[in-house]
Amino acid sequence: MPLEKYRNKRNFEVSPEPKGRTIAGRKSSLLYVIQKHRATHLHYDFRLEWNGVLLSWAIPKGPSLDPSVKRLAMQVEDHPVEYGSFEGVIPAGEYGGGTVMLWDRGTWSPEEEDVEAALKKGSLKFDLNGKKLRGSWALVRTRNYRGSQKTAWLLIKHRDAFASSKDITQEKPRSVVSRKLLAQIARSGGGDVEQASTGDP
Ligand code: MN
Repeated sequence: MPLEKYRNKRNFEVSPEPKGRTIAGRKSSLLYVIQKHRATHLHYDFRLEWNGVLLSWAIPKGPSLDPSVKRLAMQVEDHPVEYGSFEGVIPAGEYGGGTVMLWDRGTWSPEEEDVEAALKKGSLKFDLNGKKLRGSWALVRTRNYRGSQKTAWLLIKHRDAFASSKDITQEKPRSVVSRKLLAQIARSGGGDVEQASTGDP
């Protein structure tokens, strides 16, 4: 069942996150989104639309534009495509409780003929066309953490015109949709402003 894990973890009577529909059929452009999420720990949720859901990875340090830097990306449950429009506050005590920012959004296109085979093999090359992240990237599966059910991948920037040594998470900390910082999103959503502000520069 698509999205079963996603729905089982959440109480939609309490949290404003979308319950999600699954959409059948291929679309010509595929959504790409990164949500900056100040939950128990700050992380960046990297999501790629595929087969009517958002494949999702949690990246503790966020993406790096430097091709020599590999960023750990823990694969998490598929999310509904509508989640790619969510910015706001997940109530404290709920799964993922904290503040969510739409940090980057755009489209992606696979550099692979067969995406299913690439995912299975654990090496997916793709292009991002976001506001902050662009150009060629790779996700490469690596060893699993001991005792963890989640699968560890690495997010790596390929060498191209969009590679850079600048720290994009520090230089571009605002929402691409509302231009707000985490603390401002928490304030408007009735969340924990002090906790959220620890994720702002
Ligand atoms: Mn998250």
